[in-house]
Amino acid sequence: MSARDGRVVRTAKIVDHGPASARWNLVVLSEGYREPELAQFAGDAERFCETLFATPPFDALRTSINVFRVDVASTDSGADDPAACDGTGATPATFFDASFCNGGLRRSLHVDTALVMETATDQVPEWHVAIVVVNSPVYGGSGADGVPVYSLASQAERIALHELGHSAFGLADEYADREGCGSAETDDHRYVGDEPVEPNVTADPSRRTLKWRDLVRGSTALPTTANADCTECDSQPNPVADDAVGAFEGARYFHCGLYRPQYTCLMQESAEPFCAVCTRRIRETLTPFLPKRSPMNYSVIVNQRNHFGNEPDFLPGVFAGRRKDFSFDCPGVDSRQQSVLMMQTQHVSVEANVFTVNGTTVFGNVPQTTEDKDAWAAQVLLVNPNVLRSSGNVLHVEARTGSGSSSGDVDDFAIDNVVLMYKTG
Ligand SMILES: [Zn+2]
Repeated sequence: MSARDGRVVRTAKIVDHGPASARWNLVVLSEGYREPELAQFAGDAERFCETLFATPPFDALRTSINVFRVDVASTDSGADDPAACDGTGATPATFFDASFCNGGLRRSLHVDTALVMETATDQVPEWHVAIVVVNSPVYGGSGADGVPVYSLASQAERIALHELGHSAFGLADEYADREGCGSAETDDHRYVGDEPVEPNVTADPSRRTLKWRDLVRGSTALPTTANADCTECDSQPNPVADDAVGAFEGARYFHCGLYRPQYTCLMQESAEPFCAVCTRRIRETLTPFLPKRSPMNYSVIVNQRNHFGNEPDFLPGVFAGRRKDFSFDCPGVDSRQQSVLMMQTQHVSVEANVFTVNGTTVFGNVPQTTEDKDAWAAQVLLVNPNVLRSSGNVLHVEARTGSGSSSGDVDDFAIDNVVLMYKTG
């Protein structure tokens, strides 16, 4: 029941949407798995990812998130399950010292959060949230100190999302009774106090000042429901549409005096979807980590007819001679990307003409003009990655003979309207 009761075996990036420096990095750590059980943990972590990315709004925000799996082996399996909470009394030796029965509540499953954060920092310095999967079939979880913890009871992954709501997004529980409605809990009936800091519960249901008032339709009453008996959870059915946002009395362990935004929410009941207010908070947190869309830019390299060759009178336009360099810039270019070079050509008769950007042959070179040589042909060529730079690029064009010689009777051809389209980083 200390850090000596196991070891960190390995770390794997199991969902890769880009560099850790640019994404929201979720770290999943194992607790109470013996080393031979780590393959099972890999499957448990995979199931968590599947549930996460299938659940709105994470489905639409998936490219903002990386997931790292940290395999931590414990000496023993499971978690402490104190007899004081009618548990088994088991006290296995585990790395993060997981235990049920915190505050006398069996389902309240805690770990050594300082050690979790230290381990996450060692393995993934850019981590944003570190979630702990506890290898126990007993129902439980918590979100204490910003560390979501869950065990492997049924619907474990939904509980994990609920705890993630607390730890990563600062969401409050939206249920009205800490020990469950009908538990005859006698305290915490009516909330008296300041406005809670969490975005998804409020003590102020007035239309003018309600903190999620922009999501409430004018036709929805405020408060939307009032609890007639503050010694019990309100059992009335939802008086409005399922997706209607309002102010429903009963939230954050109080039967009265605190309101939640929708009749149901994953922060109230783990089988339900997140309500609109919780969804908005998650979206606001993750949106800055979405990949930037790569915008395009273009450079005009040649905008008049240039005639290459050794017979100045053969074609009209600027006579470039046997060879010519054209300088151009590509401000902000992402040189890791391919770019597209477009131009018009006329009278290209040999394959050996040279067409390079920064000394690298442009893919496709300059195709020969096949039919009517007086007609302009439109060319689309590709420039490979790692060729372009933001300034001082050179397009080199050189006329050659059919056998590739730069002297003698070289090909006479023209180019015009050379435009390079490129992505910027
Ligand atoms: Zn909610």
